[in-house]
Amino acid sequence: MTELCDLRCRYCMPKEGVCKKRGDEIFTEEEMVTAVEAAASLGVRKVRITGGEPLVKPNILSICRRSAAVPGIQEVCVTTNGLGLSGLAEPLRGVGVRRINLSLDTLEREKYAYMTRRDRLNDALRGLEAALEAGFEKVKVNTVLIGGFNDDEIPALAALTLRYPIDMRFIELMPMGGGFEQRAYLPCGVVLERLPMLEPVGQSGTARLYRLPGALGNVGLISPVSAHFCAECNRLRLTADGKLKPCLHGGEEFSIKGLDRAGMEAQMRRAVLAKPECHAPLSSARPSQSGRAMYRIGG
Ligand code: SAM
Ligand code: SF4
Repeated sequence: MTELCDLRCRYCMPKEGVCKKRGDEIFTEEEMVTAVEAAASLGVRKVRITGGEPLVKPNILSICRRSAAVPGIQEVCVTTNGLGLSGLAEPLRGVGVRRINLSLDTLEREKYAYMTRRDRLNDALRGLEAALEAGFEKVKVNTVLIGGFNDDEIPALAALTLRYPIDMRFIELMPMGGGFEQRAYLPCGVVLERLPMLEPVGQSGTARLYRLPGALGNVGLISPVSAHFCAECNRLRLTADGKLKPCLHGGEEFSIKGLDRAGMEAQMRRAVLAKPECHAPLSSARPSQSGRAMYRIGG
């Protein structure tokens, strides 16, 4: 949707940010809606709007409203750092967004300012409150586990589920080739070691779900590195410059920029058939073959 962002998370973006692409290089709103229509006609039922930071897009409400109105689309979700949610949570709900994923790696102001290179923890927390007040069907908080940075906060982050009806999901740091210190990688198993009282309650998509006694929501563990979930992956990713990626960690891309709906459908079929059975195991010695950091793919 966009490569631009109002944060500069160290594991995701260069500190100088990214150059704004020329208008003719990025996928337009019309193209996005056509792509959603093409996908829906092939059986896609769920659209996730992400980035970069989707809430910095001036036409975010229009894109969500038009995507949610496409026949066949049952769910439009947004993944955001939450900074813009205090003003946008209710409007997003109003245009048909059903779920929000909010990324939050720490509850401590100085650590947040260090990791995101911006002193905006309060805006993110206000965004979380706004999302809860707006009445989305589900609000999930996503935390990338970073050894030596936020592993000491696992109990405090999980305890958010005692206060709020949210799913709190811990995600393993993926080696995306951006130069971020991969020694910081921790397997999700550390969450179970720190919180032995967690009770398994099932699986939701790629997340194994647990619950703290008396909690209002679940703790989820997403382990793309220690236990990849390729067999369950049914996603196609579309980059801000109009490339379909069959696999997050593969280099193959299918351009749909400038195509009409029939052309997009044909490329989508090719991209689905090109989904690999499994990507190569990830490690710091063998980073993702994607050729793009997450802000250029959409996480
Ligand atoms: N800006 C929005 C946000 O932060 O939620 C949406 C885009 S961001 C790329 C989506 C998610 O990808 C965030 O939760 C972020 O923490 C995660 N992410 C980025 N780089 C990652 C990496 N190397 N490993 C694991 N997760 C990563
Ligand atoms: Fe921006 Fe999200 Fe990447 Fe952080 S993780 S720099 S908020 S795109």
